Amino acid sequence: MRYYSTNRTAPDADLRQAVTEGLAPDKGLYMPETIRRLPDGFFDSIDRLGFHEIAKAVATAFFGGDIPQEKLDRIVEDTLSFDTPVVNVDGDIWSLELFHGPTAAFKDVGARFMARMLGHFTRGHGDKITVLVATSGDTGSAVANGFLGVEGIDVVVLYPKGKVSDLQEMQFTTLGRNITALEIDGTFDDCQRLVKSAFMDAALKERMTLTSANSINVARFLPQSFYYFHAYAQMKSAGKGDNVVFSVPSGNFGNLTAGLFAMRMGLPVRRFIAANNRNDVFLEYLRTGVYTPRASVETVANAMDVGDPSNFARILDLYGNDLEAVRRDISAHSYDDGQIREYISRVFRSTGYTLDPHGACGYMALEDGLKDGEVGVFLATAHPAKFSRTVEAAIGGKVSLPESLEGFVGREKKSVPLGADYQGFREWLTGRGQ
Ligand SMILES: *Cc1c(COP(=O)(O)O)cnc(C)c1O
Repeated sequence: MRYYSTNRTAPDADLRQAVTEGLAPDKGLYMPETIRRLPDGFFDSIDRLGFHEIAKAVATAFFGGDIPQEKLDRIVEDTLSFDTPVVNVDGDIWSLELFHGPTAAFKDVGARFMARMLGHFTRGHGDKITVLVATSGDTGSAVANGFLGVEGIDVVVLYPKGKVSDLQEMQFTTLGRNITALEIDGTFDDCQRLVKSAFMDAALKERMTLTSANSINVARFLPQSFYYFHAYAQMKSAGKGDNVVFSVPSGNFGNLTAGLFAMRMGLPVRRFIAANNRNDVFLEYLRTGVYTPRASVETVANAMDVGDPSNFARILDLYGNDLEAVRRDISAHSYDDGQIREYISRVFRSTGYTLDPHGACGYMALEDGLKDGEVGVFLATAHPAKFSRTVEAAIGGKVSLPESLEGFVGREKKSVPLGADYQGFREWLTGRGQ
């Protein structure tokens, strides 16, 4: 498969290049040149297939031919070491629970897959690859845990001192092995600036191979389509497979874009709803046809605090810039913190189901947007225990940690304190390579 850049001025890349580079040289996002439809027979019998079988078929449609089949199958199996069950919450509203992985958020799927694919492409190429990731909390944990123990790859997580929760910090500072955490005396923006400066430092890149693991990488975002197929299979076997609408709590829109890819591959889904917090430039685009990126505002659903969603370029590209076509497949809703809190409380009282702040947006968008005859599935993108302060206040009780997160508690924290200046960061990076 060839990959083109959404900006159309960079040369096409092969899979290996697209995965190791992340962003195209013209700063566009890589897109596969074809999206293969799966045969009708696959969908007819999908409810009789397991998650691994489904995911292997989807992975083969994207990556088959670029990776030996056996290897690809093994990457899928290793990635999906946990299930993504669909559970009924109330009436025609169902929850696709994506929080049963090691860091209890959906990013585990993409991060684990990308780590293994990158490992495949670097093996036997001598050089170690260093993955740099700046995090405000959740991306760092998913990436660090996804790459833990993968040969040939070192991960460096930069996080702002004192600005991530204890639980988040534990998930990337206690791992050891090929994971190093840098505690930066600054803000998240400082961390991001340091990473960007390193990527633009030509002399540094002569000395070491650097890559990023953010959600623009095709190996992180395409595998997210696996669970849309698996969710559909579960709905079909529950007799609810017709007119499924997915509601996707969205920040950078990687998760939603993966759903659009699934639809292009033939998944019989009716349409999508983008569920946003107050950062709602996409909703505004649907209303006005004008896309105006802006600085993000802080909310209780902070993994969606994004003012310029990176995957917007992919959505425009998929729909050839046709606003009407986008509107046919995607609608959007946005909610403020008060509504999010109130809903977590209300759904808990009426159904006993505990939502996290992101899932709550997904749920609300279904209640507000679902039409007669449609069945709604919202993506529960994180376990509520990851946002315990907000959730416990809303439900008036404790949320217990899932087992996967409990394992981090009490382990020894190891991180390297560094200032926010680039020179210091560069010296640390080059010093450790010798
Ligand atoms: C990252 C994240 C999102 C947003 O996903 P995108 O793919 O960036 O739209 C939503 N919820 C949670 C819990 C997340 O961690």
